[in-house]
Amino acid sequence: MFDNLSTKLDRAFKTLKGQGSITEINVAATVKEIRRALVDADVNYKVAKEVTDKIKDEAMGRDVLISVSPGQLMTKIVYDELTQLMGGEKQDIVIKGEPAVVLLSGLQGSGKTTFAGKLASHIKKQGRNVLLVACDVYRPAAIDQLKVLGEQVGVEVYSEPENKNPVQISQNAIEFARKNNKKVVIIDTAGRLAVDEQMMAEIEQVKRAINPSETLFVVDSMTGQDAVNTAKTFNDRLNFDGVVLTKLDGDSRGGAALSIRAVVEKPIKFISTGEKMEALDLFYPDRMAQRILGMGDVISLVERAQQQFDEEEAKRINQKIRKNQFNFDDFLSQLEQIKKMGNLKDLVGMIPGMGKALKDVEIDDDAFKPIEAIIKSMTPKERAQPELLNGSRRRRLAKGSGTDIQQVNNLMKQFEDMRKVMRTMNKMSQTKGGMQQMA
Ligand code: GDP
Repeated sequence: MFDNLSTKLDRAFKTLKGQGSITEINVAATVKEIRRALVDADVNYKVAKEVTDKIKDEAMGRDVLISVSPGQLMTKIVYDELTQLMGGEKQDIVIKGEPAVVLLSGLQGSGKTTFAGKLASHIKKQGRNVLLVACDVYRPAAIDQLKVLGEQVGVEVYSEPENKNPVQISQNAIEFARKNNKKVVIIDTAGRLAVDEQMMAEIEQVKRAINPSETLFVVDSMTGQDAVNTAKTFNDRLNFDGVVLTKLDGDSRGGAALSIRAVVEKPIKFISTGEKMEALDLFYPDRMAQRILGMGDVISLVERAQQQFDEEEAKRINQKIRKNQFNFDDFLSQLEQIKKMGNLKDLVGMIPGMGKALKDVEIDDDAFKPIEAIIKSMTPKERAQPELLNGSRRRRLAKGSGTDIQQVNNLMKQFEDMRKVMRTMNKMSQTKGGMQQMA
């Protein structure tokens, strides 16, 4: 996701490279390119203009510090603005009540039912007893689909195939939940191919009747500008609490993620990046901005790997990055986690510098074998101190790993690039402003 946008933003920052200072002229050119990059990524024009105006004002008001280049300073300003644009702070879903009720809305095909399964699994993992409710009275297949997902994640599904009244079904489901000790009820409603009056009236009635603690609007991010328009229509009628952006793993240009919050003034709470039940992420505006700017998202990567990584490991890696001590042992341990998680390209994009380096590369499950073989041929000392790896040692690694010197050199280069990005992040986090959260 965001590959194109990242590349274009990177190009925009390059126009500032080698410039000794920030001036009105070079900022204007850069800002224009940033605006074009955003619009090309399907960001609403008005939003793109507002953001870039702010970026320009910010940039003009800054002195370039000795420790950062104009390009780095601009990256930081854009990072701050993108984070604000996407809502600033992460917003949690509100689960309150006996039982707590979560209502899902959205068009057919948006990924609503899939998300219902993912959310149920997510809440269940927190130790709460969940009930899924199939409230689509038009498509019998929708009930079956939810049942299959429910079975997959081990959550009971409530349905009344003969009943055509969604208000009744949801009320009955809540009653059922009370009697059966279910703490959270997730209601999957009917979707239509396009917004229509009957559908809106129906979901409005359901909402009024059951008074959910959270109403979520699910939208397919690949629909670009339409996603924003649909969100607006639903919000006008439903006044929902949050947005779920799906299919961010596809060739979505990401514009919806960037403009929805500004247009409907409701936070994005979850993003969905695949059909697997595990492919659900909480939405953190700051981390998303880091990803867009090619800074990687080590924190989300570590969290995704929770089955293998614990909090201590997340802290340890963070510490090492902060102290510029990230070495080949850490690299190898991250690769090993990644391999267990699927959707490799998306995950690799979370490692600083790697997304860009691997942008055009097809990644399959064997992609890491040569890299692992090379790292495993290193002595412990070499892994900890990569600068020891001179020409003759590299030749030895190539031989030992069954690769060639070119591959070894490539890995060294990639690794050095990664460390560079990390050093830049560290440097930036030491300058004033909101970059501290990044470390
Ligand atoms: P609904 O009609 O809104 O309930 O949508 P579904 O949940 O049935 O999803 C429509 C299609 O999109 C299905 O084929 C899903 O497998 C697929 N889908 C849902 N979420 C995602 C996602 O995050 N990424 C991808 N690639 N596909 C998804």
